[in-house]
Amino acid sequence: MEKYKSKLEEEKKLLEEELATMGKEDVETGDWEATPENDNKSQEVLDDADMAERAEDYEERSSALLVLESRLNDIKSALTKIESGTYGSCEICGKKIEEERLDINPSSKTCEMDMEKVV
Ligand SMILES: [Zn+2]
Repeated sequence: MEKYKSKLEEEKKLLEEELATMGKEDVETGDWEATPENDNKSQEVLDDADMAERAEDYEERSSALLVLESRLNDIKSALTKIESGTYGSCEICGKKIEEERLDINPSSKTCEMDMEKVV
C-alpha cells in the first residue's frame, strides 16, 4: 500500500504544480480556474485577432485544466481511501482491483471488468 501512497502523493504534487502554471485555485470551493496568459501585456495593444487568440487560448487552458483537475480529484479520493483502508477495492463490484492495474494507474477506481462502466 505504501508504494501506491507515495506514487499518488508524487503525482498529486506534479499535478498541482502543473495546475498552478495554468490557473489558480479558488480557496473556497477548491475548484481551479484558468488564468489568461500574458497578463503583463497591456489591454490597449491587443487588436481583434489578438483578442480572439487570447480567448481561444483561454478555452484551451480551461479544458486542459478540467482534465488535470478531475485527475487530481481521483488521486485525492484514492489517498482518502488509503487513509480509511478501503483502497484497492472496485467501486462497482467491491472486489480487489488487479495489482497490475494499480501499478499502471494507482488511482484506478474499478477492477478491469468494470472499468468501462465508469466514466
Ligand atoms: Zn469490479
